[in-house]
Amino acid sequence: MSSEPPEKMMFQLTLRRRGISDQAVLRTMEAVPRENFVTAADRRHAYRDSALGIACGQTISQPFVVAYMTEQLQLQKDHKVLEIGTGSGYQAAVLSRLCGHVLTIERYRTLADGARARLEKLGYHNIEVMFGDGFDIPPGAGDFDRIIVTAAMEQIPEKLQQRLVTGGILIAPVGPHQGTQTLVRVTRNEGGFDRRELVDVRFVPALPGIAREL
Ligand code: SAH
Repeated sequence: MSSEPPEKMMFQLTLRRRGISDQAVLRTMEAVPRENFVTAADRRHAYRDSALGIACGQTISQPFVVAYMTEQLQLQKDHKVLEIGTGSGYQAAVLSRLCGHVLTIERYRTLADGARARLEKLGYHNIEVMFGDGFDIPPGAGDFDRIIVTAAMEQIPEKLQQRLVTGGILIAPVGPHQGTQTLVRVTRNEGGFDRRELVDVRFVPALPGIAREL
């Protein structure tokens, strides 16, 4: 008999049924305790396949979308990954188990501080949480094997694409801030950038600059 609570078994089934097939991604989704990334009031809903509210009017993404974006990144153990939009830190935790290092950037100080403390407590040591603006990544951070944007961008900034190494992959929700966006995957090759549209999604907007509110 499995000692898994039924909602966690359903969680895996839902991800598989919706088309996630990468075993490493499925194992990771099983291993990261989403209940530690949601508000106390939402803890009992942590394994539902839905986005939930967090502090500063933001959201932790729907598990299917987290798994799907992660699968699309085709992560390898030595990859250096950039995430724009730390939020709760959940997506960063998922990425960190499948790659070498994650730099994640958040424009709300409260969320950045909260995520940093949470990830440290949970023992994720290959994640750096930075308070800052994802539209303005410090040059000193270098280039990345993978870039994942978890807030809606009206378009992908050219200078963000330029931070990909050759062979690198970027994934971002692109479209209007209100309504639906399309998940876009950009691959950098020797000749330039290959762009592919994947599925429709809904994300909170990516806004320029650090937040004035805490
Ligand atoms: N990946 C998160 C959910 C992201 S919600 C998780 O796993 O919980 C989107 C986040 O992007 C919000 O917290 C929002 O504040 C942040 N964000 C929006 N614009 C940003 C920008 N320019 N730079 C950094 N973070 C940004």
